[in-house]
Amino acid sequence: MTAVRTYFSDVFMGLWTALVGMSITLRYLFSKPVTEMYPDVKPRTPTRYRGIHVFEEEKCIGCYVCAKACPVDCIEIGVVRKGKEIKITKFDIDYQKCMFCDLCCEPCPAHCIHMGPEFEKASFTRKGTILQFATPKTLTEEEKKVEKVARK
Ligand code: SF4
Ligand code: SF4
Repeated sequence: MTAVRTYFSDVFMGLWTALVGMSITLRYLFSKPVTEMYPDVKPRTPTRYRGIHVFEEEKCIGCYVCAKACPVDCIEIGVVRKGKEIKITKFDIDYQKCMFCDLCCEPCPAHCIHMGPEFEKASFTRKGTILQFATPKTLTEEEKKVEKVARK
């Protein structure tokens, strides 16, 4: 008798769980869809989103504080100084290493590096993941030497 009761109880439980599942499916069938049609529609990132950096070159004083603060050494900076003039010759971030921790932005005295909303920078090559933020400049031989020494 107990075996028959267990059999019917199992059948009932099977039907009941299927009904519960179907009721949830039906509820979602008639509600507003939440799917985002990426990449046709770009998702809106929250205001404090930590994406690809935004670098304001004209404000940068080439102090290396951000590079020193980075725990994984993924920022490479090149600077040439001539009196009061500062040329940022290199500002590369290696996104193979970057962990989007924001530690480089916090201590920047010029407030010129920020975490931005951009996230679409996937690359098929390793080299492609190193982003160059400084605008290319032509340097004199002397400036090249100065930059090399500064980097060391
Ligand atoms: S976000 Fe973090 S890991 Fe990325 S460059 Fe800045 S300090 Fe380095
Ligand atoms: S800490 Fe700021 S000012 Fe200094 S090198 Fe980095 S980005 Fe430029």
